[in-house]
Amino acid sequence: MILASEQSLPLVLVVDDDSTMRILLRRAMEKQGYRVAEASNGQECLEIYTRLRPDIVLLDAMMPIMDGFECCLQLQKLPEANRTPVLIITGLEDKASVDRAFEVGAADYVTKPIHWPVLCHRVRRLINQLRLYQQLEAANLELQRLAGSDGLTHLANRRYFDKYLYREWQRMSREQGPISLILCDVDHFKIYNDTYGHQAGDKCLQQVAEAISRAAKRSTDLVARYGGEEFVVVLPNTPSRGAVRVAEEIQMHVKNLALPHLASPISQVVTLSLGIATQSPASEVSESALIKAADEALYQAKHEGRDRYCLHAATCLDEPH
Ligand code: GH3
Ligand code: MG
Ligand code: MG
Repeated sequence: MILASEQSLPLVLVVDDDSTMRILLRRAMEKQGYRVAEASNGQECLEIYTRLRPDIVLLDAMMPIMDGFECCLQLQKLPEANRTPVLIITGLEDKASVDRAFEVGAADYVTKPIHWPVLCHRVRRLINQLRLYQQLEAANLELQRLAGSDGLTHLANRRYFDKYLYREWQRMSREQGPISLILCDVDHFKIYNDTYGHQAGDKCLQQVAEAISRAAKRSTDLVARYGGEEFVVVLPNTPSRGAVRVAEEIQMHVKNLALPHLASPISQVVTLSLGIATQSPASEVSESALIKAADEALYQAKHEGRDRYCLHAATCLDEPH
């Protein structure tokens, strides 16, 4: 059994056809506090690499079956391995061998007989560099996520929505499927803020966002904050009948929140108006036509008295699905 604390210790993959050399390297690396795995040729190295994903590979250059240079080259081709440092350890000191080692992507090179303190320092430095790189990649991913998300509701933001709709519009155009959009706008929200204060307004938006999210269940559905108190739901592969069902569920969840809105001219609780539009993307129309249609339907819902959904007139209820 491997303990969790051991799991986080760096794993060094020692690759050498000479078993005595492997034992010496294992001892030196374990003394540094690393975990060690072994392989006796290049082919075995690739297999073990894929299974264990070590943090660094110490690779002998001269080995049977597949030598270290070829093995290093193959490792670079594995998408998951191209960041893993490879340190080539070899008796070959000629310029051509050194050049070749770096050409095939080695991060560093040491010669035999091994100067152990030098090897240990280089391994430590390479592992530290890898860790820094991984942290940077994680931070970049987090930044990307934040760039696409809305700070108040944690939903996708307008930017993300634009990109997502464009992508799904293209996909549905290829697959010849319908795509529906629901624009949701909180009714008389200005009065809500004026009555309960801006902070209460923010809290209300968070709860409404959560209620809308609960109604959009498919993995390809996207709920985004479209603007202030407006939300948008993207429903790929969904005809208008399906979109109407989602809209009704959104209304139900928001009603169930029963958020008091006593100054509202239409209801005692917070309500939404929703505009629904569906289109089967065609190459000559852009996704902005769908947004425009949903916006018109939303305007109609407001005009007809709010707290309701309206389906854009050009949208057909009888599409097959
Ligand atoms: P309607 O029923 O026609 O939609 O009326 P409304 O008052 O909801 O619409 P209007 O566009 O006049 O006002 C929207 C209000 O939403 C005004 C604005 O202060 C408020 N709002 C927008 N974003 C936020 C936010 O992030 N937090 C809070 N608390 N209020 C917001
Ligand atoms: Mg609005
Ligand atoms: Mg509003």
